[in-house]
Amino acid sequence: MLTDNHNRVISYLRLSVTDNCNMRCQYCMPAEGVEFSPVKELLSWEEMFLLASTFIELGIKKIRITGGEPFVRKGLMEFLQKLAGVEGLEEISITTNATLIGPHITTLKSLKIRNINVSIDSLDKNRFNDITRRDYFDTVLNNVYQLLQNDFNVKINCVVMAGHNTEDIIPFINFSNEYNVDVRFLEEMPFNGHSKNFDRLEWDHIKIMEHITNQFPKVNRLQSVAGSTSENYTIENRKGSFGIIPSFSRTFCGTCNRIRVSAKGELQTCLYTNDSVSFKKLLGGNPGMELIKQAIHAAVKSRFKDGFEAEEKTEWKKSMSLIGG
Ligand code: SAM
Ligand code: SF4
Repeated sequence: MLTDNHNRVISYLRLSVTDNCNMRCQYCMPAEGVEFSPVKELLSWEEMFLLASTFIELGIKKIRITGGEPFVRKGLMEFLQKLAGVEGLEEISITTNATLIGPHITTLKSLKIRNINVSIDSLDKNRFNDITRRDYFDTVLNNVYQLLQNDFNVKINCVVMAGHNTEDIIPFINFSNEYNVDVRFLEEMPFNGHSKNFDRLEWDHIKIMEHITNQFPKVNRLQSVAGSTSENYTIENRKGSFGIIPSFSRTFCGTCNRIRVSAKGELQTCLYTNDSVSFKKLLGGNPGMELIKQAIHAAVKSRFKDGFEAEEKTEWKKSMSLIGG
């Protein structure tokens, strides 16, 4: 079992398989993109598999595949096929912008990968295109419908941004009722590749909740799932559910059970720090599992207490696409 220096059990790994992306979401990166790494600087699929297997031996039960956009990297499906066979791993889930997932739905189903989080920040095509700076609205919605028809557990992630999509909050709640899906509203974090800075959020979790309860006064809080970052609710007489993720307010750090590995093999123990351990270098020397395990333990035993402490000791913030969202 992996336990950190604050007695939190770490059972959840967010594994980024690429920093590249076919979208340019405003909250994630500037219009011109960020400096994406050449493939040779990324962990190879073999290195990633070795690392993931080591984490599983250490007690990781759930791996979320993320990026960048995971489906832009060639070889993803073969990697998932191998990963799905590793004993001890209870769940593989994926976070995606759903532009490229369509042709892979049948294979994902056969691998029993059921939990897919899809980022959609607006149900209005013009606003969606404005936020993502691309024209994929119809493809994304079509793929979401296909996932739902194939019985995937789809969660929609919507980053709430003043002046961009707050008018979408209620339509998303209606969408969750119509399609019986979970919608989660995320506070915007300052990880945008320096396209903008902010110290304070206008639309924080409190304001998002007030906005929803003004329209739907009868909401019921659902019991928290261990390690979950979202507060989840249902609305009386409606299907679906909604959640709010206070990713900027960071009210959940005390129970954080997750760590991240970036596509370049950097182990990051908190979203708000740039401190990381480079596994690319380590794996290059063919270290064997024991040395990798030692490096993981050492990193996990020096975690910050929370995202505020981490931020205080961090000078700059990169794009979520490079961190691995
Ligand atoms: N490309 C995939 C996607 O968009 O779902 C996976 C990677 S993306 C970096 C992972 C998640 O991070 C998405 O749900 C996205 O909305 C979220 N994200 C990115 N930048 C963010 C920011 N500045 N604040 C809050 N959430 C952010
Ligand atoms: Fe790409 Fe996801 Fe970042 Fe949007 S949020 S630019 S889809 S990595």
